[in-house]
Amino acid sequence: MTTTWVDGAAGSLFDVDNLPYGVFSRAGDQPRVGVRIGDFVLDLSPVAAAEMLDAHHVFQEGSLNSLMAEGRQVRESIRRWVIGLLTEEAERDLVEPHLVPLADVTLHLPIEVADYVDFYASLDHATNVGRMFRPDGEPLLPNWKHLPVGYHGRAGTVVGSGTAVTRPCGQRKAPTDEMPSFGPSTRLDIEAELGFVVGTGTSLGDRVAHDDFADHVFGVVGLNDWSARDIQAWEYVPLGPFLGKSFATSISHWVTPLEALDAAWVDLPGQDPAPLPYLLPSDPEQQPRGLDIDVEVLLNGELVSTPPYRTMYWSPAQMLAHLSVNGASVRTGDLFASGTISGPEPEQRGSFLELSWGGTEPFAGDHTFLEDGDEVVLRYTAPGAGGGRISLGEVSGRILPSA
Ligand code: MN
Repeated sequence: MTTTWVDGAAGSLFDVDNLPYGVFSRAGDQPRVGVRIGDFVLDLSPVAAAEMLDAHHVFQEGSLNSLMAEGRQVRESIRRWVIGLLTEEAERDLVEPHLVPLADVTLHLPIEVADYVDFYASLDHATNVGRMFRPDGEPLLPNWKHLPVGYHGRAGTVVGSGTAVTRPCGQRKAPTDEMPSFGPSTRLDIEAELGFVVGTGTSLGDRVAHDDFADHVFGVVGLNDWSARDIQAWEYVPLGPFLGKSFATSISHWVTPLEALDAAWVDLPGQDPAPLPYLLPSDPEQQPRGLDIDVEVLLNGELVSTPPYRTMYWSPAQMLAHLSVNGASVRTGDLFASGTISGPEPEQRGSFLELSWGGTEPFAGDHTFLEDGDEVVLRYTAPGAGGGRISLGEVSGRILPSA
């Protein structure tokens, strides 16, 4: 791979094999689109205008949606152009003045979220939760291995990394309580997830075929699906998650384009029974593919879990094929998330519900669920095409007391 001339970027987690997009502003400026290289943001708009790039207007927007709507070919050609800018010495005089140190910018929610869907694609997570919530039954419900279970979440409360999360109030009733009560959640939790952002939409009535995933998905984000377990446990029967989830969902400031993950695709651990044909590659020789992304969960600076995304049961392409198989259209800015990422080992669990086993086994000192003032940071790394590793942006959030 060619080497970048940007100071400190070569060999870092944000080398030219990564190049995630985000929305940034400097004091007094309108937010606009940039790409991260090392510890800088490249301000794309003036460089694109100087080079008379056809799509230069998409970089002046306050979200990535216009860029994402340009489609796969434009996404790929812009990426080649940016790599050229950052690796060719001849471009340096033009480009270098538009590199802004990260320390000098404010990062914003990168996308205008259209619809938001959350899946439940980890076998280990679903099994752990099933064991806790239904101790006398089979941990997995009968549909779980036949379709990627999911629910529609709340797009309007997706927030950028660093946004504080106020402890939600709601109605809850423990099994031992006679009557429900109202108050601040006492079982506030995280869900370490990966999110997928749609660039190219479809028309009502169309399906996204399994094989067309990369034609529709622009890239990935880190995602924390904050969850109030006490509210959730009382309200979720029979229609699924509602207010226990909808108060906040945090995503990374950076959207990593699919091309940066070319070296991260791996076979799924295995699906038995075989899913229905619409959930499989059209070529029977091909296997559905997952992503080899390592996740780290930090609580107040301490590493408390390392969920491995490669252990997920359902693939990203299967989730998108399923969510559109009824003809529901998808739109630019749609966000669908994997569900909690948990591996088979206790230290690979992606929620406090599992790490504390329903609040019965304290971890990281005497933690069970989130306390006011706690800060959670999710970090994500993957193999890069250059032979090293790349980082997806981190997702952080601190808990404020209920209002
Ligand atoms: Mn979730």
